Amino acid sequence: MMSKIEEESFGIYIHIPFCKSKCAYCSFVSDACLSDCKDYVDALIREIRDVGGGRHADTVYIGGGTPSVLKRGELKRIMSAVRENFSLFDNAEISSECNPDSATREFFDECVSSGVNRVSMGLQSANDALLKKIGRIHTFGQFTDSVEAARAAGLENIGADLMLGLPSQTEKDVTDALRAVIERGLKHVSVYGLSVEEGTPLYKSGYEPDEDMCADFYDLCYETLKSAGYHRYEVSNFAIAGKECRHNIKYWTSKPYLGFGVAAHSFYGNTRRENTADRKRYMTGERVEKITELTKADRIEETIMLSLRTDRGLDLTEFENKSGCDLLKSKRSEIDRLKKLGLINIDGKRLRLTEQAYYKMNYVILALL
Ligand code: SF4
Repeated sequence: MMSKIEEESFGIYIHIPFCKSKCAYCSFVSDACLSDCKDYVDALIREIRDVGGGRHADTVYIGGGTPSVLKRGELKRIMSAVRENFSLFDNAEISSECNPDSATREFFDECVSSGVNRVSMGLQSANDALLKKIGRIHTFGQFTDSVEAARAAGLENIGADLMLGLPSQTEKDVTDALRAVIERGLKHVSVYGLSVEEGTPLYKSGYEPDEDMCADFYDLCYETLKSAGYHRYEVSNFAIAGKECRHNIKYWTSKPYLGFGVAAHSFYGNTRRENTADRKRYMTGERVEKITELTKADRIEETIMLSLRTDRGLDLTEFENKSGCDLLKSKRSEIDRLKKLGLINIDGKRLRLTEQAYYKMNYVILALL
């Protein structure tokens, strides 16, 4: 399937399309029917075998959906297939998402014995009433139990996702959720604004998050996490130094990755591949929905858009080497203007957003395209 063999090591993404129940805002490819779980994992393993070919990989990310709802033993089968078909680095980062209602000690034991060394929990809020409003089926108490269970199993690299803009969420709710992750010494926090997708129960209810309130809550997260020792390395992601998610960094720095499973995406060379979102089709082996060859203009646009989301910013030398475009020359007047406005700075050969520009990211990106 590869148009050329990549020298670089790959990131591997594995999609688990199962959840215990469907949250009220969710449009991810997942559902609550687990009857074909084993057959799905069989199909996943076939895809890993067909594509692997001994390629090098240094990150694996098992996402979904909810990987912790897999029947015990399935995670191990998946990771064995990855090891048999890829040359996985000894220091590979191997992450799994999980939700507090199914992230039990048995799940974490299986994680550890399968080589998973990083887990990310969907906490979203520490307020049970808010969790209920958005159709989450776990409680804050289950989150605290899950963190303890993960530690008892030997996992130290634990992160959590928080959500802003929930119905009737207050500043205190956000502070409580932040305190919950900080006090437990979690290493990584992702902060996302609630996105109400068309067709979901929350969309049908007419609820829309208040953008100004979300911006205030985001500021609160930024300040609180910064003073607790977390740094923002991407617009939605904060980590203790050294605990940034190496897999996700690959997405933002246009490094190659291979996605396995229904609706998974891959990127290598100049190619994007998208798997079908139809689980039945996927399981019969009709995997690929779309293959796109990116043009030079697509690559330039994508590199600028993704890299400016990160604290690393845009490496101008690497950008020029890959695209043949000297941004400092081709966009000189725009760059001068954005600098004067205090929206970007250039430090050596890196162009970055300033702190105040995080709210004007789209404006800056458009100016540079
Ligand atoms: S747990 Fe995640 S993937 Fe599953 S329904 Fe809820 S938001 Fe969607």
